Amino acid sequence: KMKLDELELQIDYFEFDENLYQKLQATPLENPKLVSFNKEACDLIGLDYEACETQNFIDFINGIKVLKGSVPYAMGYAGHQFGYFVPQLGDGRAINLGSINGWHLQTKGSGLTKYSRQGDGRAVLRSSIREYLIGEAMHHLGIPTTRALGIIDSDTYAHREWNQESCSIVMRLSRSWIRVGTFEYFARTKNAIENIKQLSDYVIKQSYPHLIDVEKKYEKMFYSIVDKSAELLAQWSVYGFQHGVMNTDNFSVAGLTIDYGPFAFMDYFEKNSICNHTDSEGRYSYNNQPFVARWNLAVLANCLEKICDSEKLNSYLETFLAQYQKVYLEMMNKRIGLEASKSGNLNSDLIKELLGALETSRMDYNVFFYRLTNLKSFEDLSSILNIAVFQEPIKNWFESYKNVCLEQNSSFRDRFEIMKKVNPKYILKNYMIEEAIQKAHDRDYSLVNDLLKIAQSPFDEHPDFEHYSNPTPIKYANVKLSCSS
Ligand code: AMP
Ligand code: MG
Ligand code: MG
Repeated sequence: KMKLDELELQIDYFEFDENLYQKLQATPLENPKLVSFNKEACDLIGLDYEACETQNFIDFINGIKVLKGSVPYAMGYAGHQFGYFVPQLGDGRAINLGSINGWHLQTKGSGLTKYSRQGDGRAVLRSSIREYLIGEAMHHLGIPTTRALGIIDSDTYAHREWNQESCSIVMRLSRSWIRVGTFEYFARTKNAIENIKQLSDYVIKQSYPHLIDVEKKYEKMFYSIVDKSAELLAQWSVYGFQHGVMNTDNFSVAGLTIDYGPFAFMDYFEKNSICNHTDSEGRYSYNNQPFVARWNLAVLANCLEKICDSEKLNSYLETFLAQYQKVYLEMMNKRIGLEASKSGNLNSDLIKELLGALETSRMDYNVFFYRLTNLKSFEDLSSILNIAVFQEPIKNWFESYKNVCLEQNSSFRDRFEIMKKVNPKYILKNYMIEEAIQKAHDRDYSLVNDLLKIAQSPFDEHPDFEHYSNPTPIKYANVKLSCSS
């Protein structure tokens, strides 16, 4: 385990044309205070926990302390925002520091860059806490994601909507920060072909190293991105996760969840749920997410046109929804304790019926699965009926479920063994994070740290937080969040 001064960062981005990024220094925050640090992320980069309790660590996040080997830089990228192309986006408030053990460190909220456009280069405490916690929650559900090492608050303020809010910096870690939007940016340069090839080689080395020496590697890279994305989108759906802003610049080419904004773990099941307040048309609604992912990948296919056989890319892309559906159904079977039958039947009718029943009975989505896991008999459904606003639809579903369980010769015990691994007691919902944010605004960071623990062990008991395992109080459920961050 190393001290901060012993860590050494690697930089691999400066092989690209220097017009595609900017080397720069962070603009530090005033009176920075540590909100939280994450031991699991320390382990990823080999950092000693004790190093995180020093002023040095705060200075590191604040950008005053630059580690050995680090040359801070911001990346340029483009992107389609709500379907409209914007040629110049980029790290407008994020600064990359270099990588350790393949984890690329980035601070978010460290001041202006050449990509800041009208922005102030800052991130408010509220959005940093959200990003800090949700990465851990996602990871512990097995969903590929960026992580975070630590977070600071400060006496610097920024204007958001009608308020002044305190600024903060979160140190994020990712295996890759390359987005579909990075390809869109490189594709519009003078030496587009060279630059796109170079970027593809970079992505292959970073995320798909098994393709380094393979023939037709660029096509195969695309196929791998399609596969990974299909799996990711299925995982989101299975846990009711909504990203909120699936613009191409927020869409990873490594199959990771990146750039958390107005995301939500859906409280009450609603297939057309929209969590982003500005998304009035529901482009990024829960149900649309896989279709948007496929759309984003079509944009990527376009960027690769000049170095790939584009017909092949597009025909491979046609497998996306089928791949998505397969992973989705396999995982949903586990959530109800069943396995695909030997004939390969994935109980899709039963699952479809369940979704309808959850929606019409108005039920907390993830709490339903936890209660199902612990159900002891079909004679007493009260633990589940008690959390339904309307009981009939879910009661009817149990008739179908009971029949399938009988047909498949599956016992409560069999199902419990399957379900206990995939149905956590705790899901990090927005109302919980909101409580932690309220306290943090009064400089009480205790709930942030408590939620960190819950996010990192959602299958365990947390006796002081039993209430968080209950359905979301109706007045806080499925609340739309603003994009301001
Ligand atoms: P998002 O959709 O939040 O991922 O951001 C879209 C673009 O706006 C990215 O290029 C961000 O870097 C940039 N951006 C967002 N907020 C700010 C800010 N406060 N200051 C500078 N740039 C920002
Ligand atoms: Mg973004
Ligand atoms: Mg953002």
